Amino acid sequence: MAAYISRSILGLERVAGVLRNPKVIQATCCVANPGSQQRRWLNVHENVSFTLMQEMHIPVPVFGVSKTPEDAYNVAQRLSKESGCTDFVVKAQVLTGGRGKGSWRNGMKGGVKLVFSPDEVKDIASKMLGEILVTKQTGDKGLPCHEVLICERKYQRKEYYFAIIMERAFHGPVLVASPMGGVNIEDVAKEHPEMIFKEPVDILTGLSMEQALAMAHRLGIETDKVEVAADIIVKLYNMFIKYDMTLLEINPFAEDTTGKMYCLDAKLRFDDNAEFRQKKVFSQRDVTQEDPREVAASHQNLNYITLGGDIGCMVNGAGLAMATMDIIKLHGGEPANFLDVGGGATATQVKEAFKIITADPNVHAILVNIFGGIMRCDVIAEGIVAAAHELQLTLPIVVRLQGTKVEDAKALIAASRLRILACDNLDEAARMVVKLSHIVTLAKDVQVDVKFELPL
Ligand code: GDP
Ligand code: MN
Repeated sequence: MAAYISRSILGLERVAGVLRNPKVIQATCCVANPGSQQRRWLNVHENVSFTLMQEMHIPVPVFGVSKTPEDAYNVAQRLSKESGCTDFVVKAQVLTGGRGKGSWRNGMKGGVKLVFSPDEVKDIASKMLGEILVTKQTGDKGLPCHEVLICERKYQRKEYYFAIIMERAFHGPVLVASPMGGVNIEDVAKEHPEMIFKEPVDILTGLSMEQALAMAHRLGIETDKVEVAADIIVKLYNMFIKYDMTLLEINPFAEDTTGKMYCLDAKLRFDDNAEFRQKKVFSQRDVTQEDPREVAASHQNLNYITLGGDIGCMVNGAGLAMATMDIIKLHGGEPANFLDVGGGATATQVKEAFKIITADPNVHAILVNIFGGIMRCDVIAEGIVAAAHELQLTLPIVVRLQGTKVEDAKALIAASRLRILACDNLDEAARMVVKLSHIVTLAKDVQVDVKFELPL
């Protein structure tokens, strides 16, 4: 699978040894459970995280959040009145790591800016709001910024890295920390792996004060601050458990010039199996930060993941999805996505699945690979036929159906008189779809309009 793994949500996963695309793994785990639906981690903005942290008495800078430059100015004024701060940090609320080192489409550098007056806050906010921030983690397309966080500027003398992650290798939560904070943790992991400390926690007994103290000592926190730091670590752990998180990352966890410890940044991720009991957190999901196709798919309870190639794949079951993507690669093609209709899809969902796949202009051919078990092939066929008619599809579609009601499915496709290429053998089907996608790509390159006209 490594070949398909182009994206990582947070660098930490690589540090923790999870090398595969978390979204693919997640989708895979989900479909292993029949009847389960779309599973997606929830990431929230830093201002949501800071609010939760304040509620847990975890020290964060005083802050406010704004959607307009004028309001950002007012927030800065309020912060200086209430807390006497004169210097501020303006932070793009964009769901990505590495904002500090990111750059804006409008040319401005940095998604986190240190400024010295409410006027400057307003000016910077006006250059962030409505703009696109590109970071190492977003890819070239970047992400839009609709909100900025304004907080008091801290003068830190030391920066640490602290995270808690639910990690398979440890069968539960593990603390991951480093005295080399404030910088890209992936670089630390590569260049100074000995400076990253891990402490597994028994989820049944929880994190003991001894463990937290030991971690604070290992980070090299000075003796008179070790207890304060350990107390924060315990509170962070309790928050991690209370809110069903899968990841909590504080970078930097900092000590300021007055000797106080603060969490200056927070990236939190929540397990959406817990959505039913974490309604407050889940109500703060920001879909503007997600791939619109993935959002549309989640509304239809479909598992959909965008990948980089040009062959749309519609499959049922994670194993079959992986096999399908592998075989496409084997024949020299590149999957454009991973769309899993699961075990109980209706013809309407199949139609919606096609809409999502074909909305991607990079898709040049589609391979449908269904092994009918609980999912009936005739239902899939009905969906494909309806989609081909309704969307007036001109892309080549190769269909490989096997299993429950396959004869009915074939009859439906044949009776539809649509040019859908049915193929019983997966190897042949993959070879065919790769060839067809190459033809469409070539035609596009020389700007020839090749249409696989439907119906015949
Ligand atoms: P990230 O790049 O997305 O991880 O965003 P951060 O919130 O971590 O901000 C980027 C960097 O800005 C941090 O690593 C800090 O070095 C710096 N930074 C954030 N808050 C403050 C602050 O209050 N004072 C100072 N001096 N630097 C800060
Ligand atoms: Mn950070």
